[in-house]
Amino acid sequence: MIEASAILKGPEPTIEPEFQLQLEELLELCRTNLRSVDEELVKRAFYLSYWAHRNDRRISGERYIVHPLAVAKIFVEQIGFDDIGVVAALLHDVVEDTEVSLEFIEETFGPVLATIIDGLTKISGAFESRDIGQAENVRKLLLSMASDIRVIFVKFADRLHNMRTLESLPKKKRFKIAAETLELFAPLAHRFGFYALKSEFEDLSLKILNPTEYAEISKGLREGKKVRDEYVNRFIEPIRNRLKEDLFEFEIYGRSKNTYSIYRKMQRQNKPLNEIYDIFAIRIVLKGSGQKGKEDCWRVYSIITDLYNPIPERFRDFLSVPKSNGYQSLHTTVLGPEGNPVEVQIRTEEMHGIAEQGVAAHWKYKENVESSDAEMDRFLDWVRELLDNPDPEHAAEFVQDFRLNLYDEEIYVFTPKGDLFTLPKKATPVDFAFLVHTEVGYHCIGAKVNTKMVPLSYQLRSGDQIEIITSKKQVPNPDWVKFVVTQKARTRIRHAIKEKRRETTNLGRQIWEKKAKRLGLKIDEQMLTQIASTLRFPGSEAMFFEIGSGFFDVGDLASAAKSYADGTSTDEKPPEREALIFDKFLDTAQSAGGSALLIDGKHQANILTHYAPCCNPIPGDDVFGYVSRAGGIKIHRVNCLNAPDLILNHADRVINVDWSRQKNLQFVAALRIMGEDRVGLVSDVTSVISKSLKTNIRSLRVDTEDGIFTATIVLYVSDVKHLKRLMQRIKRIQGIHGVYRYEDSTGTDGSN
Ligand code: MN
Repeated sequence: MIEASAILKGPEPTIEPEFQLQLEELLELCRTNLRSVDEELVKRAFYLSYWAHRNDRRISGERYIVHPLAVAKIFVEQIGFDDIGVVAALLHDVVEDTEVSLEFIEETFGPVLATIIDGLTKISGAFESRDIGQAENVRKLLLSMASDIRVIFVKFADRLHNMRTLESLPKKKRFKIAAETLELFAPLAHRFGFYALKSEFEDLSLKILNPTEYAEISKGLREGKKVRDEYVNRFIEPIRNRLKEDLFEFEIYGRSKNTYSIYRKMQRQNKPLNEIYDIFAIRIVLKGSGQKGKEDCWRVYSIITDLYNPIPERFRDFLSVPKSNGYQSLHTTVLGPEGNPVEVQIRTEEMHGIAEQGVAAHWKYKENVESSDAEMDRFLDWVRELLDNPDPEHAAEFVQDFRLNLYDEEIYVFTPKGDLFTLPKKATPVDFAFLVHTEVGYHCIGAKVNTKMVPLSYQLRSGDQIEIITSKKQVPNPDWVKFVVTQKARTRIRHAIKEKRRETTNLGRQIWEKKAKRLGLKIDEQMLTQIASTLRFPGSEAMFFEIGSGFFDVGDLASAAKSYADGTSTDEKPPEREALIFDKFLDTAQSAGGSALLIDGKHQANILTHYAPCCNPIPGDDVFGYVSRAGGIKIHRVNCLNAPDLILNHADRVINVDWSRQKNLQFVAALRIMGEDRVGLVSDVTSVISKSLKTNIRSLRVDTEDGIFTATIVLYVSDVKHLKRLMQRIKRIQGIHGVYRYEDSTGTDGSN
């Protein structure tokens, strides 16, 4: 490293004129795009990179230094964050590809740069290795990002340059990189508000993944350009005149959407290019900033709607409530000449900078430093939230959520005090409750939206004022997982369910220990495991859980333990545990044996069937059969929580099952009812059920607290139709806000 040290401390080395010139260009870009720049630092980083890569070539054959230089330029032009980022861009490949070590970087450039370079080296490894699943890649990327935001910014620039120069790679590799760019980098760039980057990522990916469509759309756009330009000019002309009269300083122009978004529109609307109207938008960028600038935007808006008729549903006000990536603009769609809808975007120069360069643009406008820091903090909080709960079982879901959180439109809701919260579209009161505080989420029992009671699964809308009602007695309900949309709510609910499961298991163990003591049985852990296995439990934990939740009688365990201790267990047939459970819990054993079911289209009287307690199917539900390890077939609803896992991971055990037309069988189903409490409500509910619809109630549990009424009713029904009729009738009772089909909450009985 003596040579390298000399480069950093000694006189400036001689570089070929071509690269010396490029260095000058880079420095010039830094001066115009960054708030401040340590030119000496940037130069030294370039010299080190130049020296370290002196023997390297790119696959295309050109000198390797071309790449870090290009990455640094992209970084300055498109992201423009700070000079540390530029240095990191110049050095991003040296630790991975050359003899320069991380220690050396740390000694000469300090710990901050070492952290960034280390992060970049690690992600690069994550993306190279083939067998790491995509979710894991995302995690690594985010982890490195959470350590220093510049890691991801440099990675964006690196990826963009690689995408621009992909031709020299083999086809398969090109595809992989393009797909990854589209799936991961484009949405991430969007989340940061780097629109120019995002558009180029998308277009370059499309060009590789779908070259024919790409070429056709580009050709179509070129051919239609003249007509389009004329139209845009006709549209703009009167606006330009009015704005000039009113002494605005502004720019106005038509802007084509990127190829990829036009491609998506054609796919969604299933239309050829010449039938897609909104392939361009008119943009008006006003000089000025701050409050005055905002007011100007509104004035321009009213001028435009004087000239052209607006389509009210397409109006979007991102001025008063910016998007969470900082985007601010007024969008309106008006009817232009010949009645074509034309989108108009109105914003100030300052907002425009943010729209194009995302959060990083804040660094250019000094007065915004504080708000941009808050912005960044909020974003990093979100990232950490995702990372806090690593959950390999749900890796695919993680990627899904990640994308959802990146792309989905957001809604804005208010607390009664007027505090504003941002949530993804389709968020529910439960999502909101967990966003406010985990404890609020755990104990939420009801919600009022705009002062009216709503069910917890209610989908919030922008502008809603929401108040959460909590109760200490309330615990998270597994059903909530089905309707919440935020990662935070989902992981917290799952965590609570696991916790509850552990408590129940401990309770079961205590019950057993008491019993064993009373009977004087001395059974150790190993013996328990064996007994559990003869009783066809996957392990002793599962057995204790069922004892704790009352599905399995501790007496049965005691007798099994006794026979085991007497050494008589070996030849004995194990008791039909599952049948026992059903007798006790569901009482549907009468229909087991196949009479209500067709397996592969036939009645199969000799095959033992069980109804899975996790989803409690009744005739009319979409169901499938799962061949259980204990033998027999377990019937699950298609929308059971366990279904995706069973179908995806154990497809060979899944079989086709239908309901036969057997009549007069009774099935157990449970309903959960919520509403505002009042005198006589319970008797109204029970009389609708038992008198009007002649349905037998098996059990009824009612809770009221703070004027909120909740009830769980278990009843006998013949099929889904019957159950639906009941639900509709109950819904009509005054004060009832929600009626849901209730499934067993233990989440057990998945795959065994
Ligand atoms: Mn690189």
